[in-house]
Amino acid sequence: MISQTLCERVAGLRKYGLLLNGIYRELPSRKSVFSEELPVVNLWRSHGICNTVFPAGLQGLQGSARAGFGPSFSVSFQTVHIMRLIFLGTGGYHPNERRHTASILLPELGIALDAGTGFFRLPARLKTSNLDVYLTHAHLDHVCGLTFILVPMLRGEISQVRVFGLRTTLEAVKTHLLASEMFPVLPDFEWVELDTVLEIPVPEGGHLLWTPLTHPGGSVGFRIDWHDRSLAYITDTTAPGDYCEFITGVDLLIHECYFPDELHDWAQKTGHSCATPVALLAKQANVRELFLIHVDPQRPDDDPVGLSAIREIFPNTHLAEDLLEIEF
Ligand SMILES: [Zn+2]
Ligand SMILES: [Zn+2]
Repeated sequence: MISQTLCERVAGLRKYGLLLNGIYRELPSRKSVFSEELPVVNLWRSHGICNTVFPAGLQGLQGSARAGFGPSFSVSFQTVHIMRLIFLGTGGYHPNERRHTASILLPELGIALDAGTGFFRLPARLKTSNLDVYLTHAHLDHVCGLTFILVPMLRGEISQVRVFGLRTTLEAVKTHLLASEMFPVLPDFEWVELDTVLEIPVPEGGHLLWTPLTHPGGSVGFRIDWHDRSLAYITDTTAPGDYCEFITGVDLLIHECYFPDELHDWAQKTGHSCATPVALLAKQANVRELFLIHVDPQRPDDDPVGLSAIREIFPNTHLAEDLLEIEF
């Protein structure tokens, strides 16, 4: 049996994969127990227990790992859910030396939220052959990266791409971004209109919901729920809006925060958010953790939004950075 302490630690890590737990009398080296190819993602040893968490899709590993332990080991396996998320781009409007524009990847699930300039980082990190891209709206800082995956598709590195968005968003992308005068080849995407679809199934038994957001030209927010965790992605709108109920109780709220409070007027004028309303919303919605994205590209410094004021209201707040990976 897996110890309670260990279960808690793994629950804290919130990975998806196989948990291998062995109480050892002879402490084997990692190499002697696991073959070189095994992508061991976490290993720790304490109180005579050797624990390793493997990523999903390695069920075939079970037999060889058992054999490797020999008689001095008692070994048990348990399926543990991992959700891994990579921020490919965390800035708004245009890239700067620190941040590309909005894109988030769930690599093991083949899901991307928005396709900003950070999208060029996707092919090297995607763990599936297919890809589902959900677009919040058609502003260039959220869609231009769609053109970056043409070559990976032609090479067969990405076999199938579905692009989800409102009909108006998809039409704008096809008509303008992918016009022959703008881009030489129309990529072989499957276009899926969200307008009449309220709930979309996603891998690992989850489902995705969307809600309209107020923004010049419109935008939508996304929420994904699995059986034991959830996330919401809200960008290009002015907090608090009317979507509090939509995001209530999520483990992870990823929310735009373009401006610090001093530029409150600019937030209103441009259809973006500033610090305090985002923090109050996270608190009211009782989310577990808040990650701020889509920050002002004119501010490449360490604190473009006024983090201390935000954390006074909602302590569990983080400023997302490009290529930050989190597990939840
Ligand atoms: Zn934007
Ligand atoms: Zn926008």
